[in-house]
Amino acid sequence: MAMFEKVLIANRGEIALRIQRACREMGIRTVVVHSEVDAEAKYVKLADESVCIGPAPSPLSYLNMAAIISAAEVTDAQAIHPGYGFLSENADFAERVEKSGFVFIGPRPESIRLMGDKVSAKQAMIKAGVPCVPGSGGALPDDSKEIIKTARELKYPVIIKAAGGGGGRGMRVVHTEAALVNAVTMTRSEAQSAFGNPMVYMEKFLENPRHIEIQVLADQHRQAVWLGERDCSMQRRHQKVIEEAPAPGIPRRLIDRIGERCAEACRKIAYRGAGTFEFLYENNEFFFIEMNTRVQVEHPVTELITGIDIVQEQIRVAAGEKLRFRQKDIALKGHAIECRINAEDPFKFTPSPGRITSYHPPGGPGIRVDSHAYSGYFVPPNYDSMIGKVIAYGGDRAQALARMRIALSETIIEGIQTNLPLHRLLMDDTNFMAGGTSIHYLEQKLAARSST
Ligand code: ADP
Repeated sequence: MAMFEKVLIANRGEIALRIQRACREMGIRTVVVHSEVDAEAKYVKLADESVCIGPAPSPLSYLNMAAIISAAEVTDAQAIHPGYGFLSENADFAERVEKSGFVFIGPRPESIRLMGDKVSAKQAMIKAGVPCVPGSGGALPDDSKEIIKTARELKYPVIIKAAGGGGGRGMRVVHTEAALVNAVTMTRSEAQSAFGNPMVYMEKFLENPRHIEIQVLADQHRQAVWLGERDCSMQRRHQKVIEEAPAPGIPRRLIDRIGERCAEACRKIAYRGAGTFEFLYENNEFFFIEMNTRVQVEHPVTELITGIDIVQEQIRVAAGEKLRFRQKDIALKGHAIECRINAEDPFKFTPSPGRITSYHPPGGPGIRVDSHAYSGYFVPPNYDSMIGKVIAYGGDRAQALARMRIALSETIIEGIQTNLPLHRLLMDDTNFMAGGTSIHYLEQKLAARSST
C-alpha cells in the first residue's frame, strides 16, 4: 500500500497537534475533527481541513463514532489516528473504521480486545513468557471458599481488580481475610456499573513497587522491536505526573531481558503498531500489569533517547510498511524527563479551566514543549486538565534535570492555575534527584506536606 495522502485526527489538544506535526513532516494532509468548544483552537486552524463533530461533551463529539467516520467520508481521508484516550482503545471503533474502508492507525481490533480485558491479557502474556503479578490466574469464581483459598495462597495483602477496569478505577486492596468476600462483592458490583462487566480477578498486592514500562513497535510482517523503558513511578491517584527514560538504577541486563520478552510477545500475538507493556518492578523483578495498545502521553521521552519518531512509525506501519530498523539498530542515548502540565491547583488538584492571559513557553538546548496552548487560549472545562508537556533532554540524568529546572523557571502561564509549582518542588526533591522512588512516593510526600 502507498503512503496515505490524508489522515484524519480523531482527538484534541496537544496530541492532535503532535499527530498533525508528524503528518505534515511526512507530506500527509490532515483533517482535524473538533467539538464546538474547540473550534477556535489554533491547531484546528493549522490543519488542512477541519470538521465540527458535535457539542462540547465528549460522548457527543470525540466519542461519537458515526460522526467521526462520516467526517472521514466527506473529507476523503484514508486513515484515522485516534491519539490516546477517547476511542483509541475501543475495539468496536477500530472495527467500524476498518469496515467503513479506512485504515485504523493502531493495532488490529482483536489485539485491542485481547488487551482490553485484563484477565485475557494476563493469560496471553503468561503464554508468551512475560512475567505477571502472581494472582488468581483467571476470573474469580462465585464460591467464597475458593476465593479465600486463593488469597491464602497468595498471602495478604491482595488486590481485587476489575477485568474491564481502566484509568486506575475498579481496584480494591484487601489486608485481612475478614474483609475479603465483601471486598470482592463490592468490586464486582462497581465493575458492573462502571464497565458493564462484573468479572474480577485477584493479584498479590505489591507494597512498594516502581512503575516501569516498555515501549514496543511492530509492523504487519511480524517484525517487532522494543525502544527501551520508561519510569513513570511519580503518580497521584494512579495518574502519571513525571516520566523519564531510562529508568534510574535498574540493571541493564534485567531490562534487556524483559524488553526482549515484550518484543517476542508482539510477534506471538501478531501485534501491529505502537504499544506499551506496563510492569510493576520490585526487588529486581518485573511483573506485567497491563498493555496499552496506543501511543502514550509520555512517548516523547523515548523519542528523545532513541531518535525515533513514534507517531510517524505508527503511520508507516499502519500503511503496511516494514519496520525500518532491527533491534541492533536501536541505541539509547542520554536521558529525558517529562513534566505533565495540568490546568489545576498545584496542591489541591482541583481543575482550573479558563482563559490563559499570558503564556511563555521555555526553550533552549534540549527542551521540547508539546502543547496546543497560547496566550488567549481558553482551556475548556469539559476535558482532561492536561494542557501540555515540557520535556528536557540531557547527556545524562543530571543534565536533563538541570535543564528541566531552568525550563520550569522560565515558563509563564497566567490566568489559570497550573501544577508548575509542584513540578518545581519535585525537581529539587532529594529523593527524586537520587532516582528510583516508588509509586507511592508522591502521595506520601503530599500527605506529609499538608500535615505540616
Ligand atoms: P488501570 O488500567 O486502571 O491503569 P492497572 O492495572 O494499570 O490499572 O493498575 C493501575 C495502578 O494500580 C498501577 O500503576 C499500580 O499503582 C496499582 N496496582 C495495580 N495492580 C497492583 C498490584 N498487584 N500491586 C500493587 N499495586 C497495584
